[in-house]
Amino acid sequence: MAHIASSASATSPTVWAVLLAAGSGSRLAAAGVDTPKQFLEHRGQPLFWRSVQTLAATPLVRGLVVVFPQQLLEHGAHLLETLAHESGLAMPTRVVAGGPRRQDSVANGLAALPPERNQCDVVLVHDAARPFLTPSLTTRLLEAVCDVTPPPDAAIPALPVTDTIKTRSEETPDHVEATLDRSRLAAVQTPQAFRRDVLEQAHRHAVAHGLAATDDASLVEACGGVVRLVPGDPANVKITNPEDLALLADATPPLLPVTGFGYDVHKYGVGRPMVLGGVPIPGAPEVVAHSDGDVLLHAVADALLGCLGQGDIGQRFPDSDPRFEGMESGLFVREILEDCRRAGLALLHADVTIIAQIPKVSPHRDAIAKRLANLLALPRQNVAVKATTEEGLGFTGEKKGVKAVAVVTALRPGVIAPQWRAPSPPNTQPE
Ligand code: MG
Repeated sequence: MAHIASSASATSPTVWAVLLAAGSGSRLAAAGVDTPKQFLEHRGQPLFWRSVQTLAATPLVRGLVVVFPQQLLEHGAHLLETLAHESGLAMPTRVVAGGPRRQDSVANGLAALPPERNQCDVVLVHDAARPFLTPSLTTRLLEAVCDVTPPPDAAIPALPVTDTIKTRSEETPDHVEATLDRSRLAAVQTPQAFRRDVLEQAHRHAVAHGLAATDDASLVEACGGVVRLVPGDPANVKITNPEDLALLADATPPLLPVTGFGYDVHKYGVGRPMVLGGVPIPGAPEVVAHSDGDVLLHAVADALLGCLGQGDIGQRFPDSDPRFEGMESGLFVREILEDCRRAGLALLHADVTIIAQIPKVSPHRDAIAKRLANLLALPRQNVAVKATTEEGLGFTGEKKGVKAVAVVTALRPGVIAPQWRAPSPPNTQPE
């Protein structure tokens, strides 16, 4: 059979990914690393999460099945749910327990896909031990499996082999049997992209014939399927040996500059004694507020949330929630800073302005800047505190309230959105 019959459409595929995080990492365990590698922390997050993020950032990928070891299924499911919630992952995810061998884990993952063919007709299979996959590699594979006529059954990433490869003698394993022709060899990686019905058929065929394989393409090949090689990515290495762990330390994603902006207003009236940036302002009007009413820290909190690409402080700490009544706003900021830390955000600078007719802010300016620098763990010179009136105009001018604006700049590890393309030149062809 030269080509496995496939009912899948060659256009607009509906793609799900099966992420294998079910390995035991025996080589790392032998070296005294007792955490399975898919759960090792990288930039404060488990390793498998990096693949989840990349797959979710790949256009065409609609959903994800993560395969965890049976004994860690609950732990993995909880981690995935928490991270998905925190990051606002907008993609359906399912978790399933793995089996004794890699191919059993893949089979379990396939069984968890949406049963309807129109919900999933192409499957990416990826090993969580390869955390450095990129959306461009994944997109290249999907294009290869879908965009040619007739489409192949599978597309897999391959790299040229640079070492000379020899086979061992079966009887005397320390003797060379033969030297292979390197020009015909390819070192393959994951993710591997398959037409779903082909991969399912290949797994059934493997069960029926007792086949064992270290990758899924081999099972498709065993059925006579057409497997296309596309250029792999040398950076998409597999974390296997203890020395590979050093790669995690070195693998710094590009840091992109981000800017967050915050704005807040509080009304004067019977309420809370005024605090600005955590500094009490004696003799100032009281402010009406649910929390401690620190208008400046509320603006800073919103600016930090802005750097994280999230909503606002009102969503995060609703004033309808009695837990936040009278709450010191520094605690809000600290909690958001903890999210920033987990997101790998490096704060650089904060520039804030307090806008009020009364009180006079200048006597407190230095104390506010020091307090803010301390709270944000920034050097004092990286925190600018300004104050202005609005010349008697508007509600601040009428001494009815106070407002504050804040701009925070930071570096954030990021992937440039794969959808981004340089704009095409304008069409100069006459109609
Ligand atoms: Mg407020």
